[in-house]
Amino acid sequence: MIRDLIAYPDPVLLSPARLISFEPVSDSANYIEMSPGDVADLIIDLIDTVGAVPWGRAVGLAAPQIGRPVALFVALGEAFINPRIVKHSSVVRNSVEHCYSMKEGESFRVERYRFIDLQWFDGKLKHQKRRFHRFDAQVIQHEYDHLLGLPCSAFPCRSYIVQ
Ligand SMILES: [Zn+2]
Repeated sequence: MIRDLIAYPDPVLLSPARLISFEPVSDSANYIEMSPGDVADLIIDLIDTVGAVPWGRAVGLAAPQIGRPVALFVALGEAFINPRIVKHSSVVRNSVEHCYSMKEGESFRVERYRFIDLQWFDGKLKHQKRRFHRFDAQVIQHEYDHLLGLPCSAFPCRSYIVQ
């Protein structure tokens, strides 16, 4: 189902998304229990919504952007559940990006790592690990920022690796 896009400064976009668990959770600040069916429905909503963006051509959309603060995004034709950047290049590249939680025509300049190594669960709940380069890495980092609750603004490049 096509969902409404949430815009800044809605708080759902400015707080960290919770990790998805298929087991009951005790740490409800950081985890949310969902069934595989709930997750499948949310992926379909994200795919439907990204296919109906009001301007331009979207390559990705994160769950908080449709009001669901959980660690899931779709990008590059795939679903990414509980993604985690485990390594990145030291080299960065400059880019100009747009965001569907911003007004049409607004953009921001940002530095992105040239490559990232990402671990995640795919739409079939299989564990995946892959290196993404250049544009693909840029798209993943943009959506990843949404899960961290970072605002889309001219932030400096920073390390994602959390010990
Ligand atoms: Zn965005």
